[in-house]
Amino acid sequence: MEFLKKYLSEVKKLDLYRQTNTYIPTDATHVKFENKTFLMLASNNYLGLTHHACVKQAAIDAVQMYGTGSGGARLTTGSHPLYAELEQEIARFKGTEAALVFNTGYMANIGVISALMNSQDVIFSDELNHASIIDGCRLSKATTVVFRHSDINHLEDLLAKTTCHGRKLIVVDGVFSMDGDIAPLKDIVELAEKYDAMVMVDDAHATGVLGNGRGTAAHFGLKDRVHIQMGTLSKALGSEGGYVAGSRCLIEYLINKARSYIFSTALAPATIAAAKAALKVVADNPEIVDRLNQNADIMRSGLRVAGLKVDTGETPIIPVIVGDAGAAVELAKELRNEGLIIAAIRPPTVPVGESRLRITVSAAHKPEELEQATMKIAAAAQRLGLLRGER
Ligand SMILES: *Cc1c(COP(=O)(O)O)cnc(C)c1O
Repeated sequence: MEFLKKYLSEVKKLDLYRQTNTYIPTDATHVKFENKTFLMLASNNYLGLTHHACVKQAAIDAVQMYGTGSGGARLTTGSHPLYAELEQEIARFKGTEAALVFNTGYMANIGVISALMNSQDVIFSDELNHASIIDGCRLSKATTVVFRHSDINHLEDLLAKTTCHGRKLIVVDGVFSMDGDIAPLKDIVELAEKYDAMVMVDDAHATGVLGNGRGTAAHFGLKDRVHIQMGTLSKALGSEGGYVAGSRCLIEYLINKARSYIFSTALAPATIAAAKAALKVVADNPEIVDRLNQNADIMRSGLRVAGLKVDTGETPIIPVIVGDAGAAVELAKELRNEGLIIAAIRPPTVPVGESRLRITVSAAHKPEELEQATMKIAAAAQRLGLLRGER
């Protein structure tokens, strides 16, 4: 198996070698790593709910009540009572007829897309969609047509040109995971209606973030015109699992047809209980989402004032484009020495030449922590000659 070594030495040469690090969470925004404490600016724990007292207690109570594992798939014996409660709460929160929980967001995307679409059909997919959407498209065997990122004219050209007589689906991330920008959903929905296509939105980074936490469709007032709202329980909701919200018919269809739903053991009671408690926190306390937005503003404006190139944006995902993969890694390393955990994002996650720091803020960060962090980031970028195209 020489190819293993060969591949590894190649990715190392390209600065693309990856390995896991073990971080020990100490609260919602700090971790211990090699015996030092760091401020976490790289997590998708947007509301800090992983450490919310009610969410933790719900998980503990669920273990006491129902044990640790679910012991079976949803359609066999794994549907413990918390599942139906959570699915009802998701549907109520999203304002849809029904909802279905998958084991992960990844599994929701591959399960939904491959259940809805087949080889006679065409999928229109934004070029920056998440890998799980791409994999869902591949698995479905539908023809996948990729349109330029959020380019509505390109999307319309492609819709107008298609000769497909099967089903059509337009699928986008609501909030794009690496850039933090929001899909132009109103234009997309209008095109979908004009060309008789279904619309699916991935709210992994919009759940708990946009539309009072209700997602991208709610943000634009489009919830009744988006057929499939997918999201995850693993980011702002501080637990694990994916969900799909939509019509009752859609949900019943998926229960019968989505293989990633059918052929995998159901999530543990504690996981579902935590997600349900987190959802309640968001629904009952809209000010948490406001605090997240304020913190994102503090970080964005702080970085801009310090001379870094940061686009205007409305989400807690703040990319600082560096360009070169090696430089991005070097900057992240420098910041680690300053007590900040910030991800360097490199190809293949982003295109070559667009390596970046991806900063994410949380509602649980203190404003003064964020202000301090912006100064450290700017100083490190200056030291490495990365301010305003110096490199
Ligand atoms: C994280 C993510 C997913 C996958 O969700 P998991 O619950 O982590 O499997 C899907 N889509 C997007 C856009 C994501 O960022």
